[in-house]
Order: sequence, then structure tokens, then C-alpha cells
Amino acid sequence: MSRQIIVGNWKMNGTRQDTQVLVEALVNGLPASAPDVVICPPFTQLALVQPALASSPICLGAQDCHKDVSGAHTGDISAPMLSELGVSYVILGHSERRQEHGELDETVREKAVAATKAGLTPIICIGETEDQRESGEHEDVLGWQIKGSLPDGFAGIVAYEPIWAIGTGLAATTDQIAQTMAFLRAELVRQFGEAGKAIKILYGGSVNAGNAVSVLSIPEVAGALVGGASLKADAFLSIVSAAS
Ligand code: 13P
Repeated sequence: MSRQIIVGNWKMNGTRQDTQVLVEALVNGLPASAPDVVICPPFTQLALVQPALASSPICLGAQDCHKDVSGAHTGDISAPMLSELGVSYVILGHSERRQEHGELDETVREKAVAATKAGLTPIICIGETEDQRESGEHEDVLGWQIKGSLPDGFAGIVAYEPIWAIGTGLAATTDQIAQTMAFLRAELVRQFGEAGKAIKILYGGSVNAGNAVSVLSIPEVAGALVGGASLKADAFLSIVSAAS
């Protein structure tokens, strides 16, 4: 199996002071045989974090990008702007953006095309609501999200984040994750053929230092997308140490 990847999504957290302290602790505490590690601070901290990572294997990621290169899009940031700041990954279609900003699968797909063109690796988030899981619709929902959000020839990463597990402290069970991962792999191969076998799938949703070992040992789990626990250096480094 290739190296796992641990991605920290800081969401809308981090003053300059918090950021400096956290990044220094991560850089100094990273184990020697670490998996791939990516941290995704808010846009405003990217330029601060980039030089601090210069001599570290930790990569820089962002939390969104626009589908266009430039233009009249107030408040937005383009993929080439991120690339210029040393960003190499970008989270797209997070459920918080889908819910709070009305992002549709089509928007996410266009953003993924723009990100790839700018040399960034897109991490496309998909996930069902609690109602959808309870009514047994989750596989249909995930299949449609893959079809709608991933562009043709997609060569990025998929993050499976059940919405009901995000920020709740209630991660999906290992059985739920294992079953859903197997479904997602089959669906990726059905939709993308041979290339679908190589797309990495991360799990996200209440991953913490206590459950990381069991989550990361589930077949098909290529790593984790971590929210809350990525803001605490000790917790994030424990998750990093649990990865292979
Ligand atoms: P939590 O780890 O806080 O549940 O957040 C998960 C997430 O949304 C990462 O993108």
C-alpha cells in the first residue's frame, strides 16, 4: 500500500499567533517516518505558514478555490493565486461549503478542473446527511456526488465525510466506514475504469487521537481528513503517528 495521507483542515480558525505556535509544534514534532502530511490553514495564514514549512516535509493546502483564474468575483481566491503561495493541495466541496455557500456538484467539478490546471491536487469531499443514511439512500447519494463532482480523468483524492460525523465526536463505526469504502471503490472503478483503482479515499468526521489507529487500519482508507483535532498539535501528531 502507498503511504497514507493525513490532512488537517483548520476551517475558520487561527490568528497569526495561534498559527505560528501550532505550525512550529507540528514541524518540530513530526515523526521521522511520517506519512504524507498536509495542513490547510485559512487563506489569510497561507503566506505566514509557507516559509515555516520550507524545510519540513509537511505540505500546504487550502480550503477552497474559484473555478476561474481571475475576474470580478468578490471575496474569492483562484487556484493560480494559491499555487503562487506554495499551496499544493486544495479541499473542494466540503459539506460546510455545500451547505453554507450553496455549492453544487457542478461547481465543485469546475473548481477541481481549475485546481488541476494550476498544478494543485484537489481533495473532493462527499458525504451523506444523517437522514440519508437512516433511510438507506447514502450509497445513491454518494454515487451521484462522485458522478457530479469529479471531472473526467480525475487524478485527485476523494474524502468521504459523513455529515453526521463532522464535529460531533461521533465518528462512523469501523463497519460503516469499511462498507462505505468498499462501495466507493467499486463506484470509482465503475465510473472511471482502471483509473478509479488509483484514486485515494480518505475518511473524515471526528477522527481523533483515540480512534485514529482503528480508522486508519480499515481497508481502502488511504488517510484521514481531520478538523477539530488538527488544531491541537499533540492530537494531530498522534493521528500522524497512527498512519503508515
Ligand atoms: P472534525 O474532525 O472536526 O469532525 O471535522 C471533520 C472535517 O470536516 C474535516 O474536513
